[in-house]
Amino acid sequence: MFKRWVEKFSNDVAIDLGTATTLLFVRGQGIVLNEPSIVAVHDPDRSVVAVGHEAKAMLGRTPGNLHVIRPLKDGVIADFDITQRMLGNFISQTQQRDRTILRPRVVLGVPWGITQVERRAVREAALQAGARGVYVVEDPVAAAIGAGLPIQKPGGNVIVDIGGGTTEVAVLSLGGVVKCRSVRIAGDTMDEAILQYVRKQYSLLIGERRAEEIKITLGSAYPEEGDPHTMEVKGRDLVDGIPKVVVVAEREIREALRDAVLTIVETVRTCLEQAPPELAADIVDTGIVIAGGGGLLRGLDRLLAREIQLPVAVAKDPMSCVALGLGRVLDDFELLEKVALPA
Ligand code: ADP
Ligand code: MG
Repeated sequence: MFKRWVEKFSNDVAIDLGTATTLLFVRGQGIVLNEPSIVAVHDPDRSVVAVGHEAKAMLGRTPGNLHVIRPLKDGVIADFDITQRMLGNFISQTQQRDRTILRPRVVLGVPWGITQVERRAVREAALQAGARGVYVVEDPVAAAIGAGLPIQKPGGNVIVDIGGGTTEVAVLSLGGVVKCRSVRIAGDTMDEAILQYVRKQYSLLIGERRAEEIKITLGSAYPEEGDPHTMEVKGRDLVDGIPKVVVVAEREIREALRDAVLTIVETVRTCLEQAPPELAADIVDTGIVIAGGGGLLRGLDRLLAREIQLPVAVAKDPMSCVALGLGRVLDDFELLEKVALPA
């Protein structure tokens, strides 16, 4: 009776606090917020000027007294104060002031293998941002649940989560992580590779936002049937400093992304080599599922399938997997008790 009353008057939230993107899932509503994990700060007094999309639009365009910050690095908090204020801003956007009386309970995703100190920092940031209670679940577990994998069963499943800062490869069984490998090669590395390529090849300076745009529009890991795709890229000439336009081809970007993509492939291979033989046998049938925004890189599934010789699928909505999985956990107390990490 009391429990139902509590549920009615609080909007419990699941939060995928990613290096690149933060997603919030409210119980009974689904994903209600999807914003870049970026904050614009007024330098003199460190007051927050903008968060999310609004702050991202300011990247590389700020005057001297404004600073655009990505408060998370490799999935963990790099700037505690700013993370906490960003979270506070996001959480308050999901709480209807007229109806919500109780502060929300929060389920948070964290990278696999973070230290107890880092885990405590995340928990503390959520508490200070207004949470009533905080539960922590490992990202690969949440991603697998969100991708619809039967992780509670004894069979082995593999999830590859390619985010902004890190790629995590995890072999899961019976609701937990059996083996996991993490590398700091992911979406950001790809953006940087494109930026460097355009700079070297065309003497053209571009910003990180433009580099990401090229990756999303033109990027691929595997050649498709006769791809004549090209794109105009605007930037500043390295030599005379004047704005100019060049035309870049898909093949060039694929070449620029090659090292990053191959490192991801090798990480998957190493993780699989370390999995116990029983699970390895299961994986031959269950294959690999890709999650995270980096999983949207065209042809990555085909390349991985060719290199690893296993079935590979991209999850239905790869960028939402972790948030959807955390949302499921929020809804199911038994599942929460099984997968949440100890305080
Ligand atoms: P995180 O969990 O670290 O916040 P996400 O799972 O949200 O990361 O993924 C963000 C990354 O996905 C960014 O590097 C972004 O550029 C990349 N990304 C988004 N869409 C695409 C796409 N269509 N192709 C390739 N990369 C993409
Ligand atoms: Mg993520």
